[in-house]
Amino acid sequence: MPGSRSRYSLDLDDIIAFPDIAHVPVFGPKDGESWYILLEVTQNMSLGRPVFQVEDKLKGNFWMVAFYTDNPREDAKDVEVGSTICIRDGMPHQFLDGRMGYRIEDASSVIVLPCSMAILRTINQALRKRSDDGLLLCCVMCNKPVKRGCISCKTRYCSKECQKENWKTHKQVCKVLKTLHEWNRTDWG
Ligand SMILES: [Zn+2]
Ligand SMILES: [Zn+2]
Repeated sequence: MPGSRSRYSLDLDDIIAFPDIAHVPVFGPKDGESWYILLEVTQNMSLGRPVFQVEDKLKGNFWMVAFYTDNPREDAKDVEVGSTICIRDGMPHQFLDGRMGYRIEDASSVIVLPCSMAILRTINQALRKRSDDGLLLCCVMCNKPVKRGCISCKTRYCSKECQKENWKTHKQVCKVLKTLHEWNRTDWG
């Protein structure tokens, strides 16, 4: 069941929305269905084409991700060791050398988050806790209820001072928060 603007309930362990290697779908999504494969980048193996070794959510399982998009280098420019690749409706692919992984053909199906899977889980837990505590619509610095927020991720601030104080940490996680909030409001089918 999807969350809302005022309720955050995203579960990264949901194997329908975020399948691990043991549950990755082998058939494409039906109408209204969707999922994201979450993978932490462990090694850059690019030789011309961007290719990465990644670790699955199910720890200790290493697969490949290769970019076969129109502008592979541009599309993979944010991918670094330690970042997390999210592939919408990703399905397993066997490469010519026999290795398993994901072949990315559509750049719009990929989100690269500038944090590890562990950090992603920590941020997700923190959002759930703020939601459980009834603080999702409050200033992240001082918990005063407010309407204004970060234009991108909707993180709320009661004042310029609170926003300024939070900015250094916030700019590093803004994209992560934006993505998690969008997923929270998604009906995964
Ligand atoms: Zn405040
Ligand atoms: Zn933001």
